[in-house]
Amino acid sequence: MKNQSKNTRSDFLEINPQEFSKAGHKLIDDIISFTEDIPNKPITKAETVGVLRDALSLRPLPEEGTALPELMANTTDLLIDHSLFNGHPGFMGYITASAAPSGALADLLAATINPNCGAGILSPMATEIENQTIQWLAELIGYNSDAGGVLVSGGNMANFTGFLAGRTAKAPVDLKEKGLAGLEKPMTVYCSKGTHTWIEKAAILFGHGSEAVRWIPQNEHHQMDNEKLESAIISDIDAGFQPFMVVGTAGDVSTGKVDDLSGISKLSKKYDLWFHVDGAYGVPAAALPELNETFKGLESADSIALDPHKWLYCPLEAGGVLVKNRQDLINAFSSHPEYYNFDAGPDQPSVNFYEYGLQNSRGFRALKVWIALQQAGRSGYQTLIREDIQLSELLFDLADNHSELEAVTQSLSITTFRYLPENIPTDSELGIKYLNELNETLLNEIASDGEIFVSNAIIDGNYCLRSCIVNFRTNQQTIHDLIKIVVQKGRELHKSLCNDHGF
Ligand SMILES: *Cc1c(COP(=O)(O)O)cnc(C)c1O
Repeated sequence: MKNQSKNTRSDFLEINPQEFSKAGHKLIDDIISFTEDIPNKPITKAETVGVLRDALSLRPLPEEGTALPELMANTTDLLIDHSLFNGHPGFMGYITASAAPSGALADLLAATINPNCGAGILSPMATEIENQTIQWLAELIGYNSDAGGVLVSGGNMANFTGFLAGRTAKAPVDLKEKGLAGLEKPMTVYCSKGTHTWIEKAAILFGHGSEAVRWIPQNEHHQMDNEKLESAIISDIDAGFQPFMVVGTAGDVSTGKVDDLSGISKLSKKYDLWFHVDGAYGVPAAALPELNETFKGLESADSIALDPHKWLYCPLEAGGVLVKNRQDLINAFSSHPEYYNFDAGPDQPSVNFYEYGLQNSRGFRALKVWIALQQAGRSGYQTLIREDIQLSELLFDLADNHSELEAVTQSLSITTFRYLPENIPTDSELGIKYLNELNETLLNEIASDGEIFVSNAIIDGNYCLRSCIVNFRTNQQTIHDLIKIVVQKGRELHKSLCNDHGF
């Protein structure tokens, strides 16, 4: 002990300028070549878990350290060789965006400064950047620009946050003190049949139970049927329930349809319900003036969920919730333990984001969103989103004009269609069953080929291929390729399957 200098620490994790520079510069070079090469790679190799674990060469926790340049180079290879690339132009499955590469730099910087965005005094500039990001998101979609809000990990968390704020605001008792046990009547929530599964998860996890969710049928436009919504509310009130929230969807996950938000808004006011909009996927399209009519009523929502990691092309994870009145978040989420001394601002009190949501310590996920919003600007985003929609429309038209394809729905940037060989009856039980099986097999084969990736939707009982374009690398050629691949594969499969099914 005597010989050890008081001023040294072991440097296992400390920056070593030469090593860090070597590892970092190589990583940046690798990112550039990887990104340029994405279109030439298979979207996925669909490898088995066995193959993945072999490549990872599972072994016990290493006892000794490894030099950073070697470690980073190996890790880069491992991920580039064995990942699914949602940044590939042919990736149109689910709702996962191509990620703006600027997000990688933003995350690097965010991790370097490492602000704890739970409290203003722990993250002075980062908290102000998050505030501005929230304000810009609200401006982008035409919501009031003094909206409150908070960034979260994704759409589920954003919707949960809105759900919890809404129920605290609308509960007839002080939920904070009394809990659900203090309610005389069970609380109920209303949403369209097409609503994403988060709503069921919320009802279960937050103590209402799945039966508290009233699934309202959709009309022929795949929007929530607002007449049925109103009758459900009335009959629940008569039966002794306490309706508290209506969820409108702005971009249904299957069809991209936007509910009649202004109709829902009127009903919410009439029955004093919280109006939440799940715009996790679709709400960025409200930035387009030509869609003003589609999104009418959005401005009157009490809360809105939107996912920058979807149609704002940010890398995972970035979700966000906006609320008309920020006090509603504070009412639901704030509690002040004695050991928090976060209110000692010199002039005006800063925002403490731990009071706005479920998290306590929080990372700086706002930075990549803030950077991307400035990199593209409002008009850049409008153009990219508009192009995605036009490509989706192109796909619908090509499918519609092809004798072996059926174009089913098109809205925002989601198109559903299916392979429909001639002479297969679409109204007989056998025919329906065969077509569903044919299209499901088709989807799986296309995915494992690695050139194109689409997912599925069940529309009116029919298994459809579903393409969702939130990808600034997809272009017209990709759409023509998709049609070609579906028809080619569809023909082959139909030839090999039809005899077994008696066609
Ligand atoms: C994707 C999505 C969600 C869930 O969002 P995550 O980011 O996956 O948690 C919820 N609602 C809608 C409409 C979505 O598209």
